[in-house]
Amino acid sequence: MNRFVYASHPVRVVFGRGTVAAVPEEVERLRLSRVLIVTTRSSAATAEAVAKALGPRAAAIFPGAVMHTPVAVTETAMQLVAETGADGVVAIGGGSVTGLGKAIALRTDMPQIVVPTTYAGSEMSPILGETRDGQKVTQSSEAIRPEVVVYDVDLTLGLPPALSGTSGINALAHAVEALYAPDRNPIVALMAVEAIAALHRALPALVRDPRDVAARTDALYGAWLSGVCLGSVSMALHHKLCHTLGGSFDLPHAETHTAVLPHALAYNAPAVPEAMARLAGVLGADPARALWDLAGAVGAKRALADLGMPADGIALAAERALARPYPNPRPLERAAIAALIARAFAGEPPE
Ligand code: NAD
Repeated sequence: MNRFVYASHPVRVVFGRGTVAAVPEEVERLRLSRVLIVTTRSSAATAEAVAKALGPRAAAIFPGAVMHTPVAVTETAMQLVAETGADGVVAIGGGSVTGLGKAIALRTDMPQIVVPTTYAGSEMSPILGETRDGQKVTQSSEAIRPEVVVYDVDLTLGLPPALSGTSGINALAHAVEALYAPDRNPIVALMAVEAIAALHRALPALVRDPRDVAARTDALYGAWLSGVCLGSVSMALHHKLCHTLGGSFDLPHAETHTAVLPHALAYNAPAVPEAMARLAGVLGADPARALWDLAGAVGAKRALADLGMPADGIALAAERALARPYPNPRPLERAAIAALIARAFAGEPPE
């Protein structure tokens, strides 16, 4: 075995059904007396129930989180922090809500409790991407990583099938790239393989029956492990492409991950035989094709063209992906990257 470094990160995780009821206990454990609850409309009822259970320890509910964490929204929430004297933040929702909770924690150093309702994985990572004047700036810091994550399978039962499929593949992407990260290690690789198996098994089942509790449990379990991967090792070409495409053409986050992942993996495949062997053990002989098939099985759009990317954007995307690249196992070749994006644009199978 090659040299490696492994660091564990002290996040407390509560997982199960009905676990959102444990939020007051977790607030108590952190010795918080007035928490700000951040959320979106889709989780408003849950946020109100949590506020009721917290009683006077709920300072206020801020239901205005939006995608890509615009600084203007964070500043509005910060006014509420100041007005209420909040000493902690409880984020209930998808990656967009988690992003707002992280942005508040970064500015105040307040402890965070996150209750995720999608499979994005942000809750386990020290990464925050904020948008100002249309530019997304990403930073990483231990002050950003949440202290407590409460995974409640019941809160995911209403996640619409289309979003469940693409959000689950967004999670898969974290685990896939963890297998060939330059700072990979054996523990994170075990989690990655386990995550990929759970998500690959669960996603088609829960798209067929969104209230299948066993599949929902498997998917949320896989999403947690994928989040640990994202929060432990560095991401490569796939994540760079998604950030570039999302930022350049305002494409939806999870859907973009879904369309790009098979192609990014196919690009890196020749350079990462060990990772491909592990993936083949879970996904079958052709892992990139299996991911493309999975996207089809969950009914996702596989063509970036169908997500709103303009045809004349391929060269620009390739140029930007090469401009400030993330470390990647296969050297970045301009023509091959442009060809990869072109295939994803057209929704063709990976090559
Ligand atoms: P999202 O949070 O924007 O949610 C998508 C939609 O689903 C929203 O309309 C939301 O209200 C709704 N929704 C969420 N949960 C629901 C549920 N259980 N039932 C019904 N509707 C529900 O989308 P996302 O994909 O979870 O997150 C994307 C955002 O997270 C992006 O801004 C992305 O950059 C960020 N992200 C960050 C990291 C990180 O580590 N920093 C990792 C992954 C994603």
